[in-house]
Amino acid sequence: MATTKDKKGTTAKNKSADSKKSSTKKATTKKKDTAPKSKSADSSKVTAKKGAAKDLQDLFEDGLKDIYWAEKALKKELPKMEKNASSKELKNAIASHLKETEEQIKRLEAVFKSLGKKAQAEKCDAMAGLLDEGKGIIEETEIGAVRDAGIIAAAQKVEHYEIATYGTLAAFAKVLGHKEALKLLLETLKEEKKCDKTLTGLADTNLNSKAE
Ligand code: FE
Ligand code: FE
Ligand code: FE
Repeated sequence: MATTKDKKGTTAKNKSADSKKSSTKKATTKKKDTAPKSKSADSSKVTAKKGAAKDLQDLFEDGLKDIYWAEKALKKELPKMEKNASSKELKNAIASHLKETEEQIKRLEAVFKSLGKKAQAEKCDAMAGLLDEGKGIIEETEIGAVRDAGIIAAAQKVEHYEIATYGTLAAFAKVLGHKEALKLLLETLKEEKKCDKTLTGLADTNLNSKAE
């Protein structure tokens, strides 16, 4: 932060510290400003729910359940996105990612198995929200290039969420020493990144300019 010097050579920073000492009125105002902040900081510390994760292994398993739900929810929505797309390239990209998504679901089941656990799904609020938003975009766009651009935008938000999730889960698997799980998660991460790139390519090369 830049500090300005006054005629006496005192820096602005020091000056304000001095005036804080000399002026009780100012000090009181400051206290008033910061008091509600620190109070809310205290009350925002949430008490853990029953069955909350106690270690990284728990957090890892919770994350797997979350993305398992998310992939299954996405599998249901992708055909609707495909139907609403007009461009042949976009339709193909979505159809091929649907096939990948089906494989990713099986891969997650293999991850659970490698840990000696049964595959379990737990609602992913983020994916539910992203898919809701996607539905909204479809409703709010005219069929054709504009809707296609909207579908790409919605799909990329989904892919970015997946990339973040698989990246984190892979990092957890590595730390926890789950080699088989790590291999499987990295395979899916690669597919999600590839899909995101394909979508970027579609947006760049034709759809967005057609939607102008
Ligand atoms: Fe996926
Ligand atoms: Fe989630
Ligand atoms: Fe994906």
